[in-house]
Amino acid sequence: MPLEIVCVPAFSDNYLWLVHDADSGETAVVDPGDAAPVLAVAEARGWKISQVWNTHWHPDHTGGNLAVKEATGATISGPRRESAKIQGLDIELAEGDEVRLGAHKGDVCEVPGHTLGHIALVFGEDKVAFVGDTLFAMGCGRLFEGTPEQMFNSLNRLATLPPQTAVYCAHEYTLANARFAAHAEPGNAAIAARLAEVERARAEGRATVPTTIAAELATNPFLLARDVAEFAERRAAKDSFR
Ligand SMILES: [Zn+2]
Repeated sequence: MPLEIVCVPAFSDNYLWLVHDADSGETAVVDPGDAAPVLAVAEARGWKISQVWNTHWHPDHTGGNLAVKEATGATISGPRRESAKIQGLDIELAEGDEVRLGAHKGDVCEVPGHTLGHIALVFGEDKVAFVGDTLFAMGCGRLFEGTPEQMFNSLNRLATLPPQTAVYCAHEYTLANARFAAHAEPGNAAIAARLAEVERARAEGRATVPTTIAAELATNPFLLARDVAEFAERRAAKDSFR
């Protein structure tokens, strides 16, 4: 059975992801910044959370770790490089490690830039990737800790995943990202069309995540940047874009 992935909105624009494997009955939660909403959704579905997967240390991704653990006994896995900053971490993950949910296997990819230890979880057979705050729909995370070169390389590594890979990012930032994309790539018809679609979706209250690698290759101005210098220029411009 394919993984069942449920979006749990939290705070103003975070998406926490519940991941369920019906064959084994196992459930994981990705980046529970807040425990209450994920526990409520899991309970409503009759799912018991057995694992927490953190992509990076930021409190809006890890703040609910201990409460989820207390309520469910879940095991918490997250990036080794950020272990000192992550509450309740049981299993330290680094490049080449894997997480498992039943028979589903996710590879750990280190994607520094937003933070230095940031990881993505890539379920190759499922064509699913949890990318935290690295790659967003039509955007990318801010460079809080890493260099432009690190982030450029991390994004371009994710860009090599199969085009149909579903990309689960951790925020609904797509409308602001799409407006910046149209500004950065004024002649790009795919970006203009996607901006219109995103405006429609948000006006109707629909989530614009997950995205796909194919959609990002066509419309993400940070993946369309030709080199590190152009990437850095765009990232700096986005930080002050209104
Ligand atoms: Zn973050």
